[in-house]
Amino acid sequence: MTFKYFDKPEIFVGLRELETICDTCGQNKLCYDAELFYGSDDLTSICPDCLASGLLVERDAFTCSGDIQNLKKQLKLQNPDLAYNQIQEIANNKTVELEKTTPHLVTWQDWSWPCADGDYCKFIGYGSKPLYKELAKGEPVEEFFRNSFYDTTLYNEELWTGSVPDKPIKNYNDSNQYGTLFYVFKSLNSDKIVTVWDCN
Ligand SMILES: [Zn+2]
Repeated sequence: MTFKYFDKPEIFVGLRELETICDTCGQNKLCYDAELFYGSDDLTSICPDCLASGLLVERDAFTCSGDIQNLKKQLKLQNPDLAYNQIQEIANNKTVELEKTTPHLVTWQDWSWPCADGDYCKFIGYGSKPLYKELAKGEPVEEFFRNSFYDTTLYNEELWTGSVPDKPIKNYNDSNQYGTLFYVFKSLNSDKIVTVWDCN
């Protein structure tokens, strides 16, 4: 199962260990834990097929919150000739797709899902020194790390040496070992890498 805005969710969030009833199709399957989803519908579990095929769209439930204000600004820059309501429509459609068909990324704090180049970014993993080194492709890695910050006001020079893990974070269980996490995203339309970080 592939998701537009989330790479390898089976590793980075994982499914429940035992089969449960999916709240939308009623089948007994390996499901995502839906208890942390947002919205007024109380879901317990949803299977990857139901999530991917958009069965949350008709419900008051969503898995994340997109940075739609920035998305609209980027879309307007890319398409200066489009009218405001056209920009609004494109942004709304992308936001519904993001918030209703993307697995839930477990984070310490609530923050908005980043966008780049006129679309939401894809989550590609938890930041570590080896991961940034690989992504930097020979560029000075600390500079690459700094330049990847979505909110540059949240960058500080201590983070690289003090907080970015030395070892790769291979999966969700690994990520639980850390009280500070760097969430690494990639633009769908370029090689741009975006970092969001938070702590407990
Ligand atoms: Zn289902």
